[in-house]
Amino acid sequence: MLPLIYLIGSVTFIIGLKMLSNPATARKGNAIAAGGMTLAILGTIFLYRHHGQGLHNYGWIMAGLLIGGVVGLVSARRVKMTAMPEMVSLFNGMGGACAALISIVEFEYMTAVIFTGAPVRMQLVIILAGMVIGAVSFAGSVIAWGKLNGRIKDISFKGQHIFNLVILAVILLLAVVVTAALPAVTVILFVVILLLSLLYGICFVLPIGGADMPVVISLLNSFTGVAAACGGFLYNNPVMLTGGILVGSAGTILTILMCKAMNRSLKNVLIGSFGSPKAAGGSREQGAYKEITLSDTAVIMAYARKVMIVPGYGLAVAQAQHACHELETLLEARGVEVKYAIHPVAGRMPGHMNVLLAEADVPYEKLLEMEQANGQFNTTDVVLVLGANDVVNPAAKTDPASPIYGMPILDVENARSVIVNKRSMKPGYAGIENDLFFQPKTSMLFGDAKQVLQQLVAEIVNSL
Ligand code: NDP
Repeated sequence: MLPLIYLIGSVTFIIGLKMLSNPATARKGNAIAAGGMTLAILGTIFLYRHHGQGLHNYGWIMAGLLIGGVVGLVSARRVKMTAMPEMVSLFNGMGGACAALISIVEFEYMTAVIFTGAPVRMQLVIILAGMVIGAVSFAGSVIAWGKLNGRIKDISFKGQHIFNLVILAVILLLAVVVTAALPAVTVILFVVILLLSLLYGICFVLPIGGADMPVVISLLNSFTGVAAACGGFLYNNPVMLTGGILVGSAGTILTILMCKAMNRSLKNVLIGSFGSPKAAGGSREQGAYKEITLSDTAVIMAYARKVMIVPGYGLAVAQAQHACHELETLLEARGVEVKYAIHPVAGRMPGHMNVLLAEADVPYEKLLEMEQANGQFNTTDVVLVLGANDVVNPAAKTDPASPIYGMPILDVENARSVIVNKRSMKPGYAGIENDLFFQPKTSMLFGDAKQVLQQLVAEIVNSL
C-alpha cells in the first residue's frame, strides 16, 4: 500500500509542477501537489514498517505537525504579497534545516551501530552531503531573508571570494577525513563541518547585491531540494527523493533562466556584485524632468491607438492591480489596444507581476513577455510605467559601471511617449538613478499607483 501512496505522491508533484507553469492552473497545481504531500506524510506516519514495527512517538509527531501547520498557515495567510520572497526564503531555510537535522540524526544513529564496508561509507557520504548542503541553504536563506526585509545590509571585504573558497575547501577536506576514518567515528570533526557549513552559507550570501537576490534565492531553493533528496536516499524513500530532485532541478532551471533574464553568468552574480551599488551611476547630474497632470494623461491615453502598461514593484505595494485592470477595460472599450509588458524580475519574486495581474482577472493573452514587448514598443503610442524603475533603467544598456549593466530591460523609450507613475524621484531596488525619467519623451505622474489609477479612470469616465 505504501509504495502505491508514494507513487501517487510523486505523480502529484510532477503534475502540480507542470500546472504551476501557467497562472490559470497554478492554484490547482499547488493544491494537487499539497494533497499528494499530505497523503505521503500520513502514509509514512501510519503505514511505514521497519522489521515489522510501525513508528513510535505519535504524540511528538502530531504535536510537531500541529505547531508547524498552524505557524505556516497563519504566516502564509498574513503575509503581504510584496513580502512573499522573504517568506519563501525563510520557508526554504526551514527545508534546509530539516535536511541538515535528518543528517545529524542519522549520523548519531550510525555512531550507535557497528559499521563496516562500502555501503556504510556511501551512507556517510550522503549524510555529509545532506548536512553540508542543508546547513548552507539554511544559513544562506536566513541571511537572504534579512537582506530582503532590510534588516541585514550587504557586507563584503577584500579577498572575500578567497575566504569563501577556503572555507569550502576545508569542509570538503574534513568530509574526506571523516569518511576515510571509518569505522572510527569522529564526532568533533562532524560538528566542525556543520559549523563551517553554516559559516559558509552566511559568507556566501552576505556580499551579494540587492538586485541579484532573486537568483540567490532560487539557487538556495535548489540546494534545499538536493539536501532533501539526500534524505530520500538515506531513508530509501521514493517520494522524498522525487520531491527533492524536482525542487533541486526546478530551482536550478529557474536560476539559469533568471541569470539569462538578467544577462549575467551565475559566476558573475555570485562573485561579481561586490561593492556598493550607489558607487556607480548614482550621483551623476541628471538635469530636469517634466511632470504631467492627471487630465493630460487621461487625454493622451484615451485617444491613443496602442497603450503598453509596464507594471513594477510599486504596483504591488499599492495593490493597484484591480484599478489597473479597470483602466485597461475602460480604454479597450474606447477602442484603445492595451497590453502589459512583463519583465521577468519586475516586483520582488519570479512571476510576481503575472500573479498580481491574474488576481485582478487580467486576460493572460494581454501579458507580453519582455522580448515580445520589446518588439512592440516602436508601434506603441503611450507607455504607462506603474511603479517600475530598475526594469526600465537604460543604464543597464549604456553604463558599464552600473550594477545592473547587462540586464536586459524593457525598451520603453522606443515608444512615442512614456508616462512614469511613482511617488517621488527616489531610486528602485538597485538604489540607482534612472536616466529614463530625464529623457524628453518621458513625463512623470507622481502619486500612489492605486490613487492615480482610480483618478485616471474617473477622469476618463467623467470628462472624455
Ligand atoms: P523597483 O524596486 O526598481 O522600483 C519600484 C518603484 O516603485 C520605486 O522606484 C518606487 O518609487 C515605486 N513605488 C513604490 N511604492 C509605490 C506606490 N505605492 N505607488 C507608485 N509607485 C510606487 O521595481 P521594479 O519592479 O522595476 O524592479 C524590480 C527590482 O527588484 C529589480 O532590481 C530586481 O532585480 C529586484 N528583485 C526582484 C525579485 C524578483 O524575483 N522579481 C526579487 C528581489 C529583488 P517611489 O518610492 O518614488 O514611489
